[in-house]
Amino acid sequence: MPDYWLIDEPSSLVFLLGWDKRRKVVARGQFPGVYLRAMFVRTNVMTASSASVVHTAFTSSRPSLPNVDVCIIGAGPVGGSLACRLAVAGIRVAIVDRADLPPMEHPDFDGRAYAIAAGPKKLLEDAGIWDALPLPAGPIEDILVTDGRPGEPASSLFLEFTREDAHQPFGWMVEARALRVALNAQLHTTPNITVLAPAEAKVVRKSEGADIHLKDGRSFKASLVIAADGRKSRLRSEAGIPLTKLSYGQTAIVCAIAHEFPHDNGALEHFLPAGPFAQLPMAGTDEHPYLSAIVWSDKDALAQRFADLPDDLFAREVERRMGSNRLGKVTPVGRRWVYPLSAQYAQRYTDTRLLLVGDAAHGIHPIAGQGLNLGFRDIIALSDILLAGHANGEDLGAPALLARYQARCRPANMLMLAATDALDRLFSNDNPVIRLARDMGIAGVHRLPRLRKAFVKHAMGL
Ligand SMILES: Cc1cc2nc3c(=O)[nH]c(=O)nc-3n(C[C@H](O)[C@H](O)[C@H](O)COP(=O)(O)OP(=O)(O)OC[C@H]3O[C@@H](n4cnc5c(N)ncnc54)[C@H](O)[C@@H]3O)c2cc1C
Repeated sequence: MPDYWLIDEPSSLVFLLGWDKRRKVVARGQFPGVYLRAMFVRTNVMTASSASVVHTAFTSSRPSLPNVDVCIIGAGPVGGSLACRLAVAGIRVAIVDRADLPPMEHPDFDGRAYAIAAGPKKLLEDAGIWDALPLPAGPIEDILVTDGRPGEPASSLFLEFTREDAHQPFGWMVEARALRVALNAQLHTTPNITVLAPAEAKVVRKSEGADIHLKDGRSFKASLVIAADGRKSRLRSEAGIPLTKLSYGQTAIVCAIAHEFPHDNGALEHFLPAGPFAQLPMAGTDEHPYLSAIVWSDKDALAQRFADLPDDLFAREVERRMGSNRLGKVTPVGRRWVYPLSAQYAQRYTDTRLLLVGDAAHGIHPIAGQGLNLGFRDIIALSDILLAGHANGEDLGAPALLARYQARCRPANMLMLAATDALDRLFSNDNPVIRLARDMGIAGVHRLPRLRKAFVKHAMGL
C-alpha cells in the first residue's frame, strides 16, 4: 500500500508567468506584515495566522479534522480553482499546500501574467474567482503569427487571427498576482472548504478510502485525493506513475514591457531560430498605459545572459525580436523571470483513490500559452464528473469514476502536447527549405477562414 510523506522540497518550476515560490518570497521577503488576514479568517480555515493561534491546542490534544469528500494536495491555480468549483456545488473539500496561502497580498506588480482562454474563464466565473480579481484582465482580440530572425523584419507570409474569427476575445491576460489574490481570498471564504496551509500531509490510500495525516498530528479521511502539486508531484512519484520527459534546450525569459504605441489588444507570436518570442497585451496602468507581457524562449546557454542585461540593452534585444516597429520603443518593467523549458506527461492519471490534475499530469511548452488552460480543462471535465457522481450519491473515489476522468482528458492533453512539441520543433530552426515550407503553411492557414476558426475554437477551449 503506498504511503506518502509530503515534505518540503525545492519548488517545481512552473509558470508563466511560475508560481510555487512566489508565496514564500512575498511572505518572507518583500512585503512582510501587509496581509489583511483577519478579514478572511473563518472557523474552519487554517491559515498560517489562524493555524498558529490554534496550533498549540492541536499539538497537545491532536483532534481529528472533519472528514471530507475530496482532499486536494496543492493550491496552485489548478488545485485552488478546483477546490472552489467543487465547494460551491456542495462537495466538502480540504486543500493542503506546503506554502502559505495568505488571503490578501500586497498587490505589487511582478511582471507575470497568464493567458486564460474563453472556456477556462467560464470555469473561473462559476467558481466565483473571476469576479474576485482585484485587477482588470486584458482581452486578446487579435493574434499575429510571424516568422523571422532577430534584427530582421518578419517574413511577408504570416497568419493573423482577427476579431472576425471569434465573436468574443480569444482569451484574457490575467496578472499572476491578481489570480493568486482572488484564488486565495475565495479559498478562505467559500463554504465547504478547509484550507490547511502551510502544511505537510501524509496520505495513506486504501481501496475503501484515504487517510490524510498532517505533520502536526491532525488527521481526516477523504473518498478521493487529487494531486495538484505541480510538475514535481510527490503524490505522482510515490504512486509509481511513470513520467515521460521531453527537453527543448530552451529557457524562457518572462517579464513585462512598457511600449511607446498601444497594442490594440493584439498579441504576437514571432518564431525565431532559437525559439518563439511572444508578446501578450496586458491592461495598462497609470504609470504604464501601454503594457505587455513577453515570453521569450531562447537557447539555454544564452537566456540567462540576456535576462541579466541592463535595461537599455535588454530593451534593444526585445525590439530586435518583434519583427516590426509596431509597438515602438520598449522599456522593461519589473523583475525578469527565467524558466528552463521541458514537456512531460504522466503515463496514467489515476491510482487507488488518486487523480492527477494540471501540471502534475502534464506540462507542455509555453509556445501556445496553453499549459494552465489544459489544467483548467482537466478541472472542467473533472468537476462535471464529480458533481454528477455527487448528485447520484456515487463514491467519488470509485475506480469507474476515475477511469471516466482519464478517458475524457488524457487523449486531448496528449494531442495538445504533441501539437506544441511539433510547433516548437518545426519553427525553432533556420533551415531555408523548412522555413519556406512553414511560411507557406502559415500563410495558407491565413487564407482559409474555416480552418482559422477551427483552430481558434480549439485554442479557446470552446
Ligand atoms: C514560461 C512559461 C509560461 C507559461 N505561460 C502560460 C500561459 O500564458 N497560459 C497558460 O495557460 N499557462 C502558461 N504556463 C503554464 C502554467 O504556468 C502552468 O501550467 C500552471 O502554473 C500549472 O498550475 P498547477 O496548479 O497545476 O501547478 P503549480 O502552479 O505548480 O502549483 C502547484 C502547487 O502545489 C503546491 N505543492 C507542491 N508540492 C506540494 C506538496 N508536496 N505538498 C503540498 N503542496 C505542494 C505548491 O506550493 C503549489 O502551490 C506557462 C509556463 C511557463 C514555464
